[in-house]
Amino acid sequence: MSYDYIIVGSGLFGAVFAYEATKAGKHCLVLDKRSHIGGNVYTKEVEGIQVHEYGAHIFHTSHEKIWKYMNQFAKFNRFTNTPLACYKDEMYNLPFNMNTFYKLWGVKTPKEAKEKINMQIREAGIKEPKNLEEQAIKLVGTDIYEKLIKEYTEKQWGRKAAELPPFIIKRLPVRFTYDNNYFHDPFQGIPIGGYTKIIDKMLEGIEVRTNTDFFLKKEEYKEISKKIVYTGMLDEYYQYCFGDLEYRSLRFETSVLEEDNFQGNAVVNYNEWKVPYTRIIEHKHFEFGSQPKTVITKEYPQDFRRGDEPYYPVNDEKNNDLAAQYKELAAKEEKVLFGGRLGQYQYYDMDQVVSCALTCVEKELYW
Ligand code: UDP
Repeated sequence: MSYDYIIVGSGLFGAVFAYEATKAGKHCLVLDKRSHIGGNVYTKEVEGIQVHEYGAHIFHTSHEKIWKYMNQFAKFNRFTNTPLACYKDEMYNLPFNMNTFYKLWGVKTPKEAKEKINMQIREAGIKEPKNLEEQAIKLVGTDIYEKLIKEYTEKQWGRKAAELPPFIIKRLPVRFTYDNNYFHDPFQGIPIGGYTKIIDKMLEGIEVRTNTDFFLKKEEYKEISKKIVYTGMLDEYYQYCFGDLEYRSLRFETSVLEEDNFQGNAVVNYNEWKVPYTRIIEHKHFEFGSQPKTVITKEYPQDFRRGDEPYYPVNDEKNNDLAAQYKELAAKEEKVLFGGRLGQYQYYDMDQVVSCALTCVEKELYW
């Protein structure tokens, strides 16, 4: 045996696992099919700005343990996510809060806002929400649903809001204060110097092979390691034997602009169907940058076909049932561990990925 663990994928799950296992004296090899480490948290410096190459990644958690863990590898700045939503040329604050309600209806007090929303919820008559549409209306009423949720959601997921699971919209807070902070979590920030620096530190001294496709030599890798830690797509691992899981993909269009401030905010969502992208990210605002130029990225949701980049698992009932079949096979594996958004087919946030990786490696090493 040449290695204790061969880790497939150098994203957050793989890097945390490799770091902890190596610290405990295990011999690890990390493989990544891309030309760089970091998976989708990879950031690259352009014009002195850390560009989030695979979409905005804002670290947030309510677990102090996870926050402290991440802070070992980088200092985090005080960035707070306060996105805006643009709908038919009107700008609204997100998440849904008193600023949004004031802009929509001119209401100034929480009491007035609650009355307005409750009236709309009552009129819609939804008791037990069965899908995203009903869940959204039950949370914020019909006006907000129509302007800020419906079209964005249908563009993002490529299907009707009534065909999506309710949990997706529960990610968004609704508040009756004038607080534009998108997340409830007490810990939030962007790593100074970018995410790649974190992954670099985690993988320091560990053998890493980029541009390396695990599937080209799967059996060989299995032979030379005690265990495989697989963070790629669950269905691909099993050659899609039960059928393809659905994912949502994205296309990013990044430009360097000869101006210092394009939109005055890190994230601006475009909530109407007519605009083909869901949001524009202006990367410098994640780190309060004062460079003379700016870098922006438009994010276009895409259908996923085999070979495309999978960004979001579609955790509806049909796909979860299919994933459960694959997970049954995975649970029987003696030499393979599955982790991360793709390996677990779960719409995880970064802190959940770190937490799962820590639990997984702890079980592996000490239980
Ligand atoms: N969403 C919406 N309007 C918005 C932002 C989000 O309707 O302006 C909905 C949409 O369905 C989206 C979900 O909320 O898929 C979760 O949004 P979040 O920003 O958490 O998604 P992520 O950053 O992971 O893409």
